[in-house]
Amino acid sequence: MKYLALSLLLGLLHCTGRVSERPAPPPPSDPTTVAVPQQPAPPEPAEPELPTPPAIDYDTTQWAEITHLDPTIQLDLRYATDNNFVKEKMYDCPRCFFRPDVAKALVMAHKQLKKNGLGLKMYDCYRPRPIQWKLWNKVPDPRYVADPRKGSMHNRGMAADLTIVDGEGRELDMGTDFDFFGKEAYHEFTGLPKQVLDNRQLLLKTMEDNSFRYTTTEWWHYSYIPKTFPIDDWLWECK
Ligand SMILES: [Zn+2]
Repeated sequence: MKYLALSLLLGLLHCTGRVSERPAPPPPSDPTTVAVPQQPAPPEPAEPELPTPPAIDYDTTQWAEITHLDPTIQLDLRYATDNNFVKEKMYDCPRCFFRPDVAKALVMAHKQLKKNGLGLKMYDCYRPRPIQWKLWNKVPDPRYVADPRKGSMHNRGMAADLTIVDGEGRELDMGTDFDFFGKEAYHEFTGLPKQVLDNRQLLLKTMEDNSFRYTTTEWWHYSYIPKTFPIDDWLWECK
């Protein structure tokens, strides 16, 4: 009887041992563990395409393109069209440059107007001296065109001809068009509707707040006060 019990116990132990010795099932196949030859990491996926900023094709130590600083400033560069007082296109293409300090001050003026849903629109900016000669040769009269030998604030990149536009891009009524040569364009001329005088006053205040001075005979012309710059002959590229 003792022998039988011992045999049963040994049998049970043996049986249990066999169970524990059964080889473990193979792990589920995992493709990440498969050895692959070493390869360089694939390139990062391409970023979504962003609009390419306009290329800088000018000397940024000397010039700033106003629409590059603030693309919400509007342009109506009359000398790049024949819609001007000489009825002839003077610039090959419409681009608006100033000396960098001047451009920054204009952007500040524009931002000041933007608080009230308004903004600036440029009629003329830096005017290269070769263009001044073209104008002078058409109209050699210093009442209307600066003598290129002396040059003007425009030839120095420190004057702007400009007006104010509303949120829809419509010009505020300033009483006369740009380059209207008559007393109605003078700052001292007050025989105009109150709204026109208010509009001119808003332009004057905005420009004076940002370091520009007016000229007595042209409501649209302002020149930069803090610094002076030399007359320049540089002509911009057309894109
Ligand atoms: Zn001017």
